[in-house]
Amino acid sequence: MTLLQAKNLTTFYGASQALFGVDLTISEGEVVALMGRNGMGKTTTIATICRMLKHREGTLEFAGQNLDQLPSHKAARLGIGLVPEGRRCFPNLTVGENLIATARPGDWTLETVGKFFPRLAERHGQMASTLSGGEQQMLAIGRALMTNPKLLILDEATEGLAPVVRQEIWQAIHKLKSETGMAILVVDKTLKELRQVADRAAILEKGRTVWDGKMGDLTHDLTDQYLGV
Ligand code: ATP
Repeated sequence: MTLLQAKNLTTFYGASQALFGVDLTISEGEVVALMGRNGMGKTTTIATICRMLKHREGTLEFAGQNLDQLPSHKAARLGIGLVPEGRRCFPNLTVGENLIATARPGDWTLETVGKFFPRLAERHGQMASTLSGGEQQMLAIGRALMTNPKLLILDEATEGLAPVVRQEIWQAIHKLKSETGMAILVVDKTLKELRQVADRAAILEKGRTVWDGKMGDLTHDLTDQYLGV
């Protein structure tokens, strides 16, 4: 079943156009990698899906609902959980307070998030500002899980972390995939890891979807051409 369908989205920052025709489909239970070099429109696409930015043309549907006119304050209730670039937890709230702040009813609770990330449970009363980078990233993921999303979006979740900590985040993503069957949209620079976790990929070039397909069909020629690796 299709969960998210974006067709031919165009999005502007004021007069400056950033998306020129983005197509993206995510089915239930699927992990999709959104790829492309710097500045090609990945974060703008995510912001459009989350309704922080409005698209000017095209259509956007999520869980059978048309989002074209949906105001951003209603978007959070849709079931799209965002782990934003740069993590953005509340530094002066405790781990527990950060988690409670985003809670919505469902299977993900303080208890289940704490089981999933034991390091968060251990640091329940600690200020978010005092967490390590990896723990802050776990908290950002935990906050998104607390919204009980149908779709989890991870924007550069492993950026700026030490290799061993990156591995912990990738393991968490693999675990979410295998244990929950949650749909996940992931943006990351590590092609090797994306190949291992994602079922499908979509590649953006200058604000347009130029390729999408099964991860297994993403050839080295394509990655050379569009990702420059
Ligand atoms: P990166 O990997 O560097 O984050 P990206 O693929 O996520 O890149 P976007 O951040 O979506 O790319 O940027 C797409 C285009 O929109 C770029 O040309 C960028 O300069 C422009 N852009 C992004 N944010 C803004 C903004 N706040 N105001 C104006 N233009 C912006």
